[in-house]
Amino acid sequence: MTSTAAVADQRSRTLGVLRLSLTARCNLDCSYCRPDAADPPDLMTLDQQLRLIRVAVALGAHTLRLTGGEPLLSDRLLPLLEAVSQGRRTAGDPLTGLRHVALTSNGVLLTPDRARLLRAAGLDRITISLDAVDGAVAARMAGLRGGQSAGERLVRKVIDGVMSAKLAGFDAEKGEIKLNAVIKRGENDHQLLPLAALARRHRLELRLIEYMDVGSRNGWVQDQVLPAAEMVRRIQARWPLDALGRDSGATANRWRYRDDRGGLGVIASISEPFCGDCNRLRITADGQAFTCLFASEGFDLKPVLNNAAALQQRIAGLWIHRSDHYSEDRHRHVPRPSHAEMAYLGG
Ligand code: SAM
Ligand code: SF4
Repeated sequence: MTSTAAVADQRSRTLGVLRLSLTARCNLDCSYCRPDAADPPDLMTLDQQLRLIRVAVALGAHTLRLTGGEPLLSDRLLPLLEAVSQGRRTAGDPLTGLRHVALTSNGVLLTPDRARLLRAAGLDRITISLDAVDGAVAARMAGLRGGQSAGERLVRKVIDGVMSAKLAGFDAEKGEIKLNAVIKRGENDHQLLPLAALARRHRLELRLIEYMDVGSRNGWVQDQVLPAAEMVRRIQARWPLDALGRDSGATANRWRYRDDRGGLGVIASISEPFCGDCNRLRITADGQAFTCLFASEGFDLKPVLNNAAALQQRIAGLWIHRSDHYSEDRHRHVPRPSHAEMAYLGG
């Protein structure tokens, strides 16, 4: 594998983050996501995943985010983390270029043992998703049958997952545990303050995500999007905030509570698109590369997954030709094109 400088695309955006999906399956069925029931055939092997990560790092990626579907359902997660961690500690290995290894999970399976194993295997950060504190709303958002009591069990498990992560050594105040919430107007926007209160209590950064038109199964309509500015306005009215801004290449516009109870991030992909410095490459569990979250189709990497030089050439070529900026142009895409599903893509 040749070590190169970061590749730049047609809009001078360099590769920075590799989002690698481990499975398209999930143990929830969130209304805004609607995952597949089964994985596609031919998931990547551990060797192929490692080759891919090394190539992405050689091309400029500094952050690896493991996702899904629900990545804690995948028996590939721990072996992969362990192998990445070993590479990060080995002089001369391209993996030494990785600054952060992160995971996004719904937290349902984040038991104390699991959290300890993840930390020991070298995971730096974990983002846990929860869309409501109220049981009935949480159940509806997560697609759970069983109403309020099922939702209350879900909320309890996720909060226990946060506690497990803390006990395992993930430091919320250093940003090593974050809470993600997708907000749908009219469905869970009345949960903004309870979610913020929960996050403040645990000193977690809460990341409020505008409901996005990813995938074709969720029936997305613009009216269900609550703009991030409105989310911030409602929280600010209760707990004053200071703006921190958005780091280049990052998704979240960040704020800090004036009373020092942690932070808030808003991901305004619809109302304030951030295509201009998007540095993310997404790879599905079966080796399809997506250069945009809103793309209809990926590029099949399978034919080159066993050959590092060919893989590097293929990914560099994809990135150099990339010009995606769907979010900036959303209003011009009428009718909406078909999009790959979120859980397959990895979010
Ligand atoms: N299952 C894990 C989870 O939920 O955290 C990881 C995969 S999930 C696809 C990654 C993130 O995408 C989650 O925070 C989820 O809430 C978010 N997400 C899924 N569908 C979305 C949509 N239509 N709009 C905005 N965010 C979405
Ligand atoms: Fe599963 Fe995450 Fe999709 Fe919800 S958002 S259905 S938890 S993959």
